[in-house]
Parts: sequence; C-alpha cells; structure tokens
Amino acid sequence: LHQIIDEKSTLRTLKSYTKLCMNRIGGYMEYKKTYINGCWVDGNSDKELKAVNPSNGEVIAVIKENNLDDVKSAVASAKNAFYVTRQWRDMSAQERADILLKIADEVEKQAEEIAKIESMDNGKPLREAEADVDDAVHCFRYYAGLIRTPTGGVYEVNSNFGRMHSYSVTEPVGVCALITPWNFPFLMGVWKLAPALAAGNCVIFKPSSETVLSTIKMFEIFDKVGLPAGTVNLIIGPGGSLGNYLAESKDVDMLTFTGSTAVGQSIMRAAASNVKRIGLELGGKSPNVIFADVDIEKAVEWAMLGIFFNQGEVCCAGSRIIIEKSIKDKFIKRFAERAEKMTIGNSLENYDMGPLVSEKHMNDVLKYVELGKSEGATLVCGGYRYTDGECAKGFFVKPTIFDNCTSDMRIVREEIFGPVVTIQTFETEQEAIDLANDTDYGLAGAVFTNDGAKALRVIKEIRAGITWINCYNPAFCEAPWGGYKMSGIGRELGTHGLEEYCETKQININLDNEQLGWYNN
Ligand code: NAD
Repeated sequence: LHQIIDEKSTLRTLKSYTKLCMNRIGGYMEYKKTYINGCWVDGNSDKELKAVNPSNGEVIAVIKENNLDDVKSAVASAKNAFYVTRQWRDMSAQERADILLKIADEVEKQAEEIAKIESMDNGKPLREAEADVDDAVHCFRYYAGLIRTPTGGVYEVNSNFGRMHSYSVTEPVGVCALITPWNFPFLMGVWKLAPALAAGNCVIFKPSSETVLSTIKMFEIFDKVGLPAGTVNLIIGPGGSLGNYLAESKDVDMLTFTGSTAVGQSIMRAAASNVKRIGLELGGKSPNVIFADVDIEKAVEWAMLGIFFNQGEVCCAGSRIIIEKSIKDKFIKRFAERAEKMTIGNSLENYDMGPLVSEKHMNDVLKYVELGKSEGATLVCGGYRYTDGECAKGFFVKPTIFDNCTSDMRIVREEIFGPVVTIQTFETEQEAIDLANDTDYGLAGAVFTNDGAKALRVIKEIRAGITWINCYNPAFCEAPWGGYKMSGIGRELGTHGLEEYCETKQININLDNEQLGWYNN
C-alpha cells in the first residue's frame, strides 16, 4: 500500500511540475529539467539557452542545457532499458501499438497548443505548423498499424548439409540516438521517434538548440502515456559536443540524423568507432524543371510552394528552377508579380510567409543575396530584409528571384535554405536533364509538362530520391523519403522507415537432426 501511495504522490509531483513548466513565468516559460530514465531531472550544466520568437525577437523561454554527464546518463538509461529491464522491447507488438496510438491521440488533443508553440519558436505560419502536427499524428498511427503486419520471410533453400528450413525475423537495433534540425522540429522528430519506438528500440533524442519547445511538449506526452522508464531520453544542448558524443559512443547502436551535409559527414566519421548503423537525411539543392507546354499559372503556383513554403527552409525546396527558354520571360513576369505580392508577418497571424528561424540565419541568407549579385546573376525581386511596421523587430526576408544564373555560381551550387530561387534555361530535353543533375546533392526534383511520356523520361533520369510530376513538395508517411548522392543514406517513412530501425536475423533449422558424417574420423 505504501508503495502505491508513494507512486501516486510522485505522479502528482511530476504533474504539477509539468504544469509549472508550461505556465508563463514573468512573460516567458522556464524549463529547468530534462527527461532521463522516466523522470524529469535536473541537468548538470549551468548554461541556459534562450528560445527567441523570430517574428519579434522576444525571448519566449529559457531552457537549461545539458552537458556531457547528462548525455552519459541518458545513454546509460537507454542501454539499461534495452538490455536489462527490456520492458519496451519485450512487449508484444499489440501492446506497443496501443501505446503509440495513445501518443497519437494525445498529440491530436494538444495539437492547437503544440502548433502555436512550434509557430512561435520556428517562425513558420501557424497553418503550416498545424499541418505538421496533423502529419505527426498520422505518422504515429501509421507505424502503430505497420508493426502488426507480418515481417520476415521464409526461404526455399538447397543445402549440402541435409534438409534445412530457413527463415528470417526482424528485431530492434538497440540503443538509438536521434538528432534533428530546426526547420520542422516536431515533424522531423516524429519521423524518427515513431518508427524507432514501434520497432522496440530505446532512444536518446537531441533536437536542434534553435527549436526545442515542441520537443519538450512531446516528452510531456511520452511521460503521460507511461512509456517504460528509459525508453525515451531527452538531451538539450550543442550538437558539436553532445551530438558528437552520441555519434562516437560505443554504447549507441544506431544514430539517425537529419541536418546539414557537413555535420552528416562528421557523424559518419565518428560513427566508425563501433561501426554504428547510421541513417542520414541531409541537405539539398533540388531542380524544378519546367517545359514550355505547361499552364504557366499552375506552374508558377507550384514553383512558389516549392521555394517559399516554410520560408524556403526546406531540405527538398525547389531552389533551382530550370525552364525552357521560350517561356522564361512570361514565367518570370508572373512568378515575380506573385512573389512580390506575398504577405509577410507574425507567424501566428498566418501571413503567406513568416520570419526566418533566427537573426543569424537571416544574415546568412542575405549574404548569399549579395554573393549572387557579385557573381553576375540578375536580381529580379526581393533580396532584402523586410522591416515594415511590426516586422522591424523580426527576421523577415522578401521572396527573392535570381535570373540569368549559371551552374558554376555558388548561389546555384550551395544550399541557401531561405526564400531564394535561381533560374536557368534549357532548349533541349537532354540539356534540362544535364542541368538538373549538375549538383552534388540528390534529395528531390520535379518536372512540369503536359506530355506524360516526357515527364516519365525526365523524372527517371533525375538522380534524386524524392520526385514530383506537375506538383512540388507533398510528402506522405506511407512513402519512402531520402536522398541520393550527398543528400544522405537510407530512407525514412513507409515500410523502409521501420526497416531502418530493425536488424534482420536469419534462422536456419536442421529438419532431419541426423549424424552429419562430414568428416572421415
Ligand atoms: P545542422 O546540421 O546544423 O544541425 C542538425 C542537428 O545536428 C542539430 O540538432 C545540431 O545540434 C546537431 N549537430 C550539430 N553538430 C553536430 C555534430 N558534430 N555531431 C552531431 N550532431 C551535431 O542542421 P540545421 O541547420 O539544424 O538544419 C538545416 C539542414 O538540415 C539543412 O541542410 C537541411 O537541408 C537539412 N534537412 C534535411 C532534411 C531531409 O529530410 N533530408 C530535412 C530537414 C532538414
């Protein structure tokens, strides 16, 4: 009885702590703790990070960072939960699915609040944050269903060792570190968390320091639904030290990362320590190929979504428009008219575009605009910080179009990760394909044409993992997501997304169990 009372009072303390976290204290939220081994605990670092609302530069939360001691505790907690207590791993698929469905229901219940937090923290217009949370709900439900479908296989084998039966099963990989970027903080987290947990792994999760607030909400939900202690552990702090520790640690069996190609390369090197399994979702510089037979209005609308959605802070953004020469002028005129008219303002007020994620990132994007001009590209519109009215306090950049670009320019080769698009022209189908593939990246690409055969011919030639015909940007939790070339390794989402977090074991059975007689003596 005492034990039950104790547990109940612990639960009450945790609940009131969680409430305290979410209350505004002196105009902002304070998060003093992190989540390790099923408890909200004090971190060991005395450093704090500030969450800034990029719409107005105001500090909306102060979060205590973690240090390497905390990371070690988080790894030890996940390791203990996977290899010793084994509760999550040993649950039946049905029990795990039930908990994932509870998580989905809870995210759905709190969707409005999560979307608001995400919009304020990241700068994305509220409707885009709402769509992210909705996708996240469906991602949990998808993987809850998928783990109840058959896995493994049975093989017809021919053997020199007597009659054999051979089959395979899948098992969780073990301790998984998941590291995410700031552009879709909640959704990118769920793309990893849902399949990793569905497969039965134990997790250490590290979000980008730029945008941690929606992740804290996620962990409050994990706590509420009662995941076994140690199944999920949260680490907040700098990637260079804490993230790198996770990549190097021999106690981490797998690391999946979404972020820049440069950091992905350093993770690959660090992960060699124990030949860790890795999944990398990296940067892009994706081509949007437009043929002359299209309806220009439709192509302009999709091209806008391709580059200005989420302020252009999208890995698969259609940042290189490659257009048939005969319609270029007409297209650019309409594209620029529409871009100029895009409304810009506070993310919560649902303008066409919100601010970029931070002042630093805005300045990096504006540096690329200056670079483009100095490289000889023609600035058609935008290219400056937008400061009208209330926007003066935020980090807004006008939609920017560069014409007369060539493949050797840095603005064409490097990922800018903002609302900046370059335009190049072609005259033949082969020229379009060559321009599209003239990049180190291979994340995404699109083709616009009314000629179905041409669309299929060109899309087949584009060296990229995610492609679209006559549209740009839609992504679905049922279909595989990932890049070719320097855009990454592996696939998220769909059945591939679950396989990434599973080992496959081959099991061979000797059907006759007779004396083998292989050796002479
Ligand atoms: P980033 O690489 O700077 O950081 C991503 C994460 O890695 C953060 O959590 C960061 O703290 C951590 N990190 C930094 N250094 C590390 C290290 N040495 N070891 C381990 N972790 C480390 O990326 P970002 O600026 O947050 O995000 C933008 C990038 O993410 C863009 O390049 C974009 O294309 C890419 N991205 C790719 C996809 C995809 O699906 N391919 C999706 C979204 C974003």
